[in-house]
Order: sequence, then C-alpha cells, then structure tokens
Amino acid sequence: MTRGAGIIAVDGQAAAGKTVVGRELARRLGCPFLDTGIMYRAVTWLALRETVPMDDEAGLGKLACGSAMRLTGDEGSAILLNDTLLGPELRSAQVDDHVSLVARVPGVRRELVRQQRDIAAQSARDLGGIVMVGRDIGTVVLPDADLKVFMVADPQVRAQRRYDELISQGQVAHYQQILSNALARDKIDSERDDSPLVQAADALVIDTSDLTIDQVVERALELLGSRKGEAAP
Ligand code: C5P
Repeated sequence: MTRGAGIIAVDGQAAAGKTVVGRELARRLGCPFLDTGIMYRAVTWLALRETVPMDDEAGLGKLACGSAMRLTGDEGSAILLNDTLLGPELRSAQVDDHVSLVARVPGVRRELVRQQRDIAAQSARDLGGIVMVGRDIGTVVLPDADLKVFMVADPQVRAQRRYDELISQGQVAHYQQILSNALARDKIDSERDDSPLVQAADALVIDTSDLTIDQVVERALELLGSRKGEAAP
C-alpha cells in the first residue's frame, strides 16, 4: 500500500456518478483527481473540429499523439488542448455521441493510457496518491491500485441525475437523449476489443441507484480504510 491516500481506481457505467464521487473522494483524502473521460472527450472534440472520420483509426491515433494536453481548471474539469481551453464544450451532445467511437481506437488508448500512468506515478511519488476515474483504470491503466471501485446504477437513475445536473447548470437537456446516449456508450464501451468496460476481478461494486453522493463517498472511504487495515503489518 502506497503511503498517503494511495492509488484509487474508480470505474463504471456512463453517468453513474463517477466524476462527482471521485472528485469528492479526492477532496476528502487531500490528493489529486483525474477524470480520464475528459481526455477521450478532448480528442473527440478535436477530431470533430478537424473533420477526421470516426473510422480513420490512423488519423485519430495521430491526433491523440500530436496533441499537447494539460489538465487544468477547477479540480481538473477543463483541458488545455494545444492552445485552446476546453471545458463545457467537452460535454456537448455532439461529443457525447462520438466519444465512444474515438475511445475504441487502440492508437488513441495507447497514448492516453501512457499519459495517465505518468500522471499517476508522479502523483503517487510527490503527493501520496491519486483518485483516477474512467472505464479501464482498475483493469488496464493501474492494475495494482490500492482500491478499485466499480460503480453501477439503474439507467433511468443515471439519466435523471445527468439531466438534473445539466439543468442546474443552465444547460439545455433532454432526458430521453441522455438515456439513449448513456446506453449506447455503455454498449460500445463494453463490446470493444481494446480494454473494454468490465469490472476488475478485485473491484468492489457499489450500486449507487439508491445512494446519495455522500453515501457513496462514505462507502468508498470505509472500503479504503478496511483495505489499509488488511495491508498493515
Ligand atoms: O467518463 P465519461 O463519460 O466522460 O467518458 C466518456 C467516454 O470516454 C466513455 O463513454 C468511453 O467511451 C471513454 N472512456 C474510456 N476509457 C476511460 C474513460 C473514458 O474509454 N478510461
């Protein structure tokens, strides 16, 4: 077990609340937070802008490798991509509709996973840990994580939460569109050949359907505490 908060991997379905839970977990543990979804979203945004076709694997891989990406903003909620600051545009319906197509390209994944591992190594060394959120963190990016959580929730609950979140931010939102997008992304993410969305054998599943954010965070902290207890000499 790493000293400090340790390495915490949070994976799960689209809109299961991973980002908000991960960010709060990191805040309570006093360690950095990385939402890896934002990196796939940034490459997708660029592909749409540069009109790189979604089936041009070489072109998409080249975009990922050729882009200087720096996470910034309030608790890693934005990205400086080359010289453009991207925040809310990464969560547009257009990006939602294409991101899973970009994320299934091995060349894109290879580059982003390399960057994610570098960030984790540096955070563990300098700051005692990190909370990293995504789809393949416990299985591929950080298989030796100290704690792996896999979050699931009923599709309707997930869609309603995302809808409420967007409305509270003053954005336009359509419940049915959010629901079908979350299901479509889960399907592509689970069925892709390269690092599919799958629960790691040693991950602890939390069904968040009937839990508040605080309850999920408390549950994860309890699990972390018991893991640390087990690891103590
Ligand atoms: O987490 P978020 O919903 O922002 O992720 C957007 C998309 O990025 C996912 O649906 C998935 O296709 C991709 N993704 C991934 N691996 C990760 C994180 C996100 O494939 N580690």
